[in-house]
Amino acid sequence: MTTAQAKQHTWSSDDERQVLAAIESWAEKELKPVARHCDHADEYPFELVEQMKELGLFGATIGQHYGGLGLPASTYAKVVAGIARVWMAPTGIFNSHLIMAACVERFGTEQQKQDYLPRFASGELRGGLALTEPNAGTDLQSIRTTAVADADGYIVNGSKTWITNGIHGTCFALLAKTDPKAQPRHRGMSMFIAEKGEGFYAGKKLKKLGYRAIDSAELVLEDYRIPKARLIGGEEGKGFHHALGGLELGRINVAARGVGLAAAALQDSVRYSQQRQTFGKPISQHQAIQLKLGDMATRTEAARLLVEQAARKYDAGERCDMEAGMAKLFASEAAVENSLEAMRIHGGYSYSTEFDVERYFRDSPLMCIGEGTNEMQRIIIAKQLIERNPL
Ligand SMILES: Cc1cc2nc3c(=O)[nH]c(=O)nc-3n(C[C@H](O)[C@H](O)[C@H](O)COP(=O)(O)OP(=O)(O)OC[C@H]3O[C@@H](n4cnc5c(N)ncnc54)[C@H](O)[C@@H]3O)c2cc1C
Repeated sequence: MTTAQAKQHTWSSDDERQVLAAIESWAEKELKPVARHCDHADEYPFELVEQMKELGLFGATIGQHYGGLGLPASTYAKVVAGIARVWMAPTGIFNSHLIMAACVERFGTEQQKQDYLPRFASGELRGGLALTEPNAGTDLQSIRTTAVADADGYIVNGSKTWITNGIHGTCFALLAKTDPKAQPRHRGMSMFIAEKGEGFYAGKKLKKLGYRAIDSAELVLEDYRIPKARLIGGEEGKGFHHALGGLELGRINVAARGVGLAAAALQDSVRYSQQRQTFGKPISQHQAIQLKLGDMATRTEAARLLVEQAARKYDAGERCDMEAGMAKLFASEAAVENSLEAMRIHGGYSYSTEFDVERYFRDSPLMCIGEGTNEMQRIIIAKQLIERNPL
């Protein structure tokens, strides 16, 4: 469905089935044949990006009145899982972009929404989230990038690292310190809509274990001038809150990628274990392999259900930080465990670049790091548990 067709459309379960069928068919026809090559060559899939525009993926969760599809998070999570089941990396091209868009849609002024959301939805303007710095990831309040106000706006200096879409994206939700001395530190942080231009450019493209073909890069800000009108929401000191505000949807996204990867590892293992014979029978008939398949299938299903639960709560406007955290924690660990078990089931062939399981094994660990590490998820879940159950 194109973004134009989707205007003011309410999504039914029939629609959801159609969307998922379209995504599945696209992933099989277009992603599958290029995944292995693009991953190994670390080659950006330009053609796929054009197809993603056509599919409306860059506006998947953006409201329909701004030209997006306005998909509920529950459907969106299934779209992400469906793509990740074939090749996880391309989900990053529109995931990070949509988190930037959600930041503008939730916290931006009406003018900022009008100016940016339609162009984000069409994919004309693409980008992501620029939070992490060389010295600060989990501890975001330690960032050193500064935005100093003057008569015309702000002058920004600093650097970002690990930014998804850093090379090919041109617009980013950029976190900077507008008051580096503020206490508590988060009160001195602000988020900007920053378009590349004089003083704001991509630095080094980073080489990675997995999640390849997609650009992760450093971003450099040198006396970059940004007008006051690009301060998200028009008020300083809200940036940390804006960054955290996108995390629930972000965690559901990453969890959905985990479900896709866990399912991919399972599906390849079920197939291979019936093809490969040892001692006169398919390895699927050895109990040691059956134990693995049983655990892998159960983990995949449990991860899927946790994601569904978190997404449903998100769509209902209910608090879901704990549920999204649980989904992210469980589904990402399920992806890592399933991909390792798939390696064992594939034996020596798992080490071959002619099979996809080695890619699942390299792609999965990122799910444990992005959108808040799994160590932090456990702490967040425990804190929520205590907060929701006071003595
Ligand atoms: C491929 C890739 C893509 C990425 N894309 C983006 C992007 O688009 N935009 C962006 O802004 N960032 C991005 N990141 C950065 C990512 O969000 C950070 O790597 C992540 O937040 C962790 O931060 P860090 O690497 O600095 O680890 P650190 O914060 O240094 O953590 C190191 C270890 O210490 C643990 N730890 C830290 N603090 C605590 C604590 N208080 N209690 C217990 N344990 C703790 C962590 O869990 C981790 O195990 C990306 C990273 C990768 C690898």
